[in-house]
Amino acid sequence: MALANCSRCGRLFNKMHRDVCPKCYEEEEELLRQTQDYLRDNRQAHLFEIVDALDIEQWMIEKWVKEKRINLITTEDQKAVRQCTECGRKLKETDVGAICKTCQLKKLMKKGAQSPKAAEKEEEKKEEARGMYFKKRD
Ligand SMILES: [Zn+2]
Ligand SMILES: [Zn+2]
Repeated sequence: MALANCSRCGRLFNKMHRDVCPKCYEEEEELLRQTQDYLRDNRQAHLFEIVDALDIEQWMIEKWVKEKRINLITTEDQKAVRQCTECGRKLKETDVGAICKTCQLKKLMKKGAQSPKAAEKEEEKKEEARGMYFKKRD
């Protein structure tokens, strides 16, 4: 038998296949289970969301992803799957809020604006007034 120091807590343990001691291994497995549960309920969860929600170290989650024990969507995927809550259309990166430009305009039209163009102008004015208008300009 080979004694080794646990790579997590430094305790001496009887090294078999792992480089962490049985206690740390158990702890890690428990955290992994929690992460898997969390991901089952929150498929779109981002790495940092899990770190916050479950109080798990980021490197651990990254390790599990590498070991393919959990599947995390990447930031790119997450951008791609953002959908308009009104019509289900995929939102663009530039879309602010939870609904698409078309639905935003439709809502404004209902409020009595003359045309989509006019509605857009109205909205831009409002957003500018609120200081929330992030049009990409360099
Ligand atoms: Zn340990
Ligand atoms: Zn929409």
